Amino acid sequence: MLAIDGGKPIRSSMLPYGRQYIDQNDLNAVCHVLTSDFLTTGPTVEAFERKLAQRVGAQYAVAFSNGTAALHAACYAADIQTQDEVITTPMTFAASANCILYMGGKPVFSDIDKETYNIDAMLLEKAITPRTKAIIPVHFTGQAAEMDLIHEIAQRFNLTVIEDAAHALGTYYHGDPIGSLSKMTTFSFHPVKTVTTGEGGAVTTNSPELYQKLRLFRSHGITRQESDLLDKEQGAWYYEQQDLGYNYRMTDIQAALGSSQLDKLDIFKARRNEIVLSYDNAFVDVEGVQLQKRVSPRDTCWHLYILQIKLDYFNVDRKEIFNALRAENIGVNVHYIPVYWHPFYRSLGYPRGLCPNTEHLYKQMITLPLFVGMTDQDVDDVISAVKKVLNHYRKRSY
Ligand SMILES: *Cc1c(COP(=O)(O)O)cnc(C)c1O
Repeated sequence: MLAIDGGKPIRSSMLPYGRQYIDQNDLNAVCHVLTSDFLTTGPTVEAFERKLAQRVGAQYAVAFSNGTAALHAACYAADIQTQDEVITTPMTFAASANCILYMGGKPVFSDIDKETYNIDAMLLEKAITPRTKAIIPVHFTGQAAEMDLIHEIAQRFNLTVIEDAAHALGTYYHGDPIGSLSKMTTFSFHPVKTVTTGEGGAVTTNSPELYQKLRLFRSHGITRQESDLLDKEQGAWYYEQQDLGYNYRMTDIQAALGSSQLDKLDIFKARRNEIVLSYDNAFVDVEGVQLQKRVSPRDTCWHLYILQIKLDYFNVDRKEIFNALRAENIGVNVHYIPVYWHPFYRSLGYPRGLCPNTEHLYKQMITLPLFVGMTDQDVDDVISAVKKVLNHYRKRSY
């Protein structure tokens, strides 16, 4: 009997959908900074930036207080202005679109591919107008978007590409690491992401000009660097605010954790991908379930595992299946509510039905737990619970 109907749950305690993995090296690294001269942005942030840039094959990395600040800074550096349109996917966290609004720009949502769930590069071109300035593709669940096509279109229409790679640290595209491919790439180090700094983010770029702009924006629009000062006649105390920026700095405490976590990225990737493979093998033949299309599995560092429930096969809706899994103590989730369905975006005039593939997927999707610290028993529990619940609710005719 299902736990939701009073039966015994598959697990006695709730398995979360995501969780950070912290080891003794992480603790040592953070403690070391706490007893050093710098707590906030100092040498450890710089070391983290160098390590991240090297890992993703970029010239520069600029660390931020979170991934949303990194997206905001990238939109600033790309010179997004009032009336500019920026194309992004609606199947993402709201921050991917909010950053456009921060700059006064207009998010334009272009639909996803039904199989990969990434922005459909074929549809992208239809969303371009004379006002389009940039594209923000998201590597949804960690699987790379079709960057060759996206770059080809961007080049033809003179658009800036900012990759939102919050899901995709450790992913490669045709042999090159995500972070090295576009004008700018943003990352998030929130605890559910592959590598964490508590809160944190970064932008990587190969452009020295963009690098300077990103650094300026991170710290109030203020620079102290002598070569950048407009007034060079002042004393050693002198600094200049050259534009309106924010305090979006990362602390050295966070960067110490980030550096130590980056050392484990390959281990993290191997374990995440191993869990994904176990899930795939368990669910590939289950009636009424659709797996996300795997584009280049070995290049992907998986962030989310999504199960698409084909609702025609079942007597109930996604909500009942979701609640039944929660009752079995499996911490399922849904990623994501289409961004323009949020009341705020609706108030801006975005209508329902705008992106049918996204809306169709949204109604059928469930995110299963996926994190490095999951034991094989945890993985088995998830598989057993999914099968138990789906078998219970599947229509007899199937
Ligand atoms: C997590 C996430 C962000 C925001 O990152 P924060 O560090 O939480 O600000 C942006 N975009 C996507 C796709 C994300 O998953």
